[in-house]
Amino acid sequence: MGKAETLGLGFRLVVVLVVGCLCREAVGSGFVKYETGSGVVEGKLNVHLVAHSHDDVGWLKTVDQYYVGSNNSIQGACVENTLDSVVESLVRDPNRKFVFAEMAFFQRWWLTQSPGIQALVRKLVDAGQLEFVNGGWCMHDEATTHYIDMIDQTTLGHRAIKAQFNKTPRAGWQIDPFGHSAVQAYLLTAELGFDSVHFARIDYQDRAKRKEDKSLEVIWRGSKTFGSSSQIFANAFPVHYNPPPGFHFEVFEDVVPVQIHNENLKHHVKTNGWQPWRSCCKKI
Ligand SMILES: [Zn+2]
Repeated sequence: MGKAETLGLGFRLVVVLVVGCLCREAVGSGFVKYETGSGVVEGKLNVHLVAHSHDDVGWLKTVDQYYVGSNNSIQGACVENTLDSVVESLVRDPNRKFVFAEMAFFQRWWLTQSPGIQALVRKLVDAGQLEFVNGGWCMHDEATTHYIDMIDQTTLGHRAIKAQFNKTPRAGWQIDPFGHSAVQAYLLTAELGFDSVHFARIDYQDRAKRKEDKSLEVIWRGSKTFGSSSQIFANAFPVHYNPPPGFHFEVFEDVVPVQIHNENLKHHVKTNGWQPWRSCCKKI
């Protein structure tokens, strides 16, 4: 694991940039038009930002340590704080969105909330501001994991979401798993009812070639038996799942926050081209 990755694990706030309309071609069943928040503005480049976190259910620390934020000398991470602050931020601005994946953390947090906070969170989920992606107990690996375990842990998480929110996750959010298996593609994505699967880990030469070929996004047909009936839209990230260059959200990083607004945007674009945030990010 590289240093950047280690720093980023605690609260990996990654910005997914989806340029243009989010409408995708329907793949298999279960397609639902995406809610694009405040809507698409005609005549402008529309960029949709979806904030999310990925939290390992045990890696350098135990699941308990990750949740409460103890043992931070090993790694700065506190998922409880993440969930507390996300809810507050979503309530503050109804145009904000957040997605969360790992039910091992969410369930622990949810069960300790007051009825008032739970009602608030239900409203956020119903309004589409907070969405569960993947929704398994953890984000399972695919390289060596037995498919029974993948089914089992995904079922556990999905049952909780269904019982508490009457929702079923739609996005296969496999951004950190090592290895990618056909079972994940056809059984735990298409057959499960997801309409897409997204991942970051891919061989670096494969990624480079796909960037060149513009084939990072493909329709993945994972089962010869089921063929096109269980194919799925698959998306490999152009870079890892860290924030894009210049966007730093980690509390321990040696940068100041991005500060771009209508008044200074033109100046920054003129000065720094496609990375207008550059001059803002050096430590003062
Ligand atoms: Zn991970």
